[in-house]
Amino acid sequence: MPGQAMNDTDRKPLIAGNWKMNGSIAMAEALVDAIADVGPCAAEVLVIPPFIYIDRLRKRTASAGLLLGGQDLSAHKSGADYVLVGHSERRQYHGESDDVVAAKFAAGRAAGLTPVLCVGESRDQREAGETEAVVGAQIDAVLARCGVSGFADAVVAYEPVWAIGTGLVASPEQAQQVHAFIRARLARHDVTMAGRIQILYGGSMKPENAADLLACNDIDGGLVGGASLNADEFITIVQRGIAAAN
Ligand code: PEP
Repeated sequence: MPGQAMNDTDRKPLIAGNWKMNGSIAMAEALVDAIADVGPCAAEVLVIPPFIYIDRLRKRTASAGLLLGGQDLSAHKSGADYVLVGHSERRQYHGESDDVVAAKFAAGRAAGLTPVLCVGESRDQREAGETEAVVGAQIDAVLARCGVSGFADAVVAYEPVWAIGTGLVASPEQAQQVHAFIRARLARHDVTMAGRIQILYGGSMKPENAADLLACNDIDGGLVGGASLNADEFITIVQRGIAAAN
């Protein structure tokens, strides 16, 4: 369990499944039903379906004790509890700068949603030793726009771009180091908020690597892509999160 926690007493594990644009409504409903047995429980479980299914799934997720999120927030702010902001695919393929991401974070807050701010470096940036500079700038842009109060009850997801959908996973030591850096960056402004905020790891999280990642002091959950489309794999990751919290 590498690294030292700033304050890990109250943070509940949060495991989020980002379904991207996969599946039909029938598959989405079946996946919610299959995951339903694990919530409510000692972990918070968030599903993030294609936006066209958000309204259709709302009652089902609510009665199952699951949280519901959106993958972006341009057209579909109603119905969801959480929204991803600054996912690497938005930054990379839709040209979203740190400032645009900060504006979306503010819009999410204004709409009453809990933003999940995704940050992370590319492989080139990591190899050039720029990880902390890149991630620090991504965090600072939101601090500049929303102030430290913007992070109250928000969520941060550290997703190294080189690990997303590639099967390459950050080692627990690599991930813990960046998570601790993020918490310390926030603690410069508000130690209490920094100790409470959930910081998730994302990037090829699977049942076989989740336990070691989730055991790290500053890793409070996972943002799961591919493995969230398989109910058994996703539930196993949720169970790893619960075990790590105990
Ligand atoms: C993601 O898309 O945010 C993600 C983490 O995907 P995967 O788990 O498939 O790497």
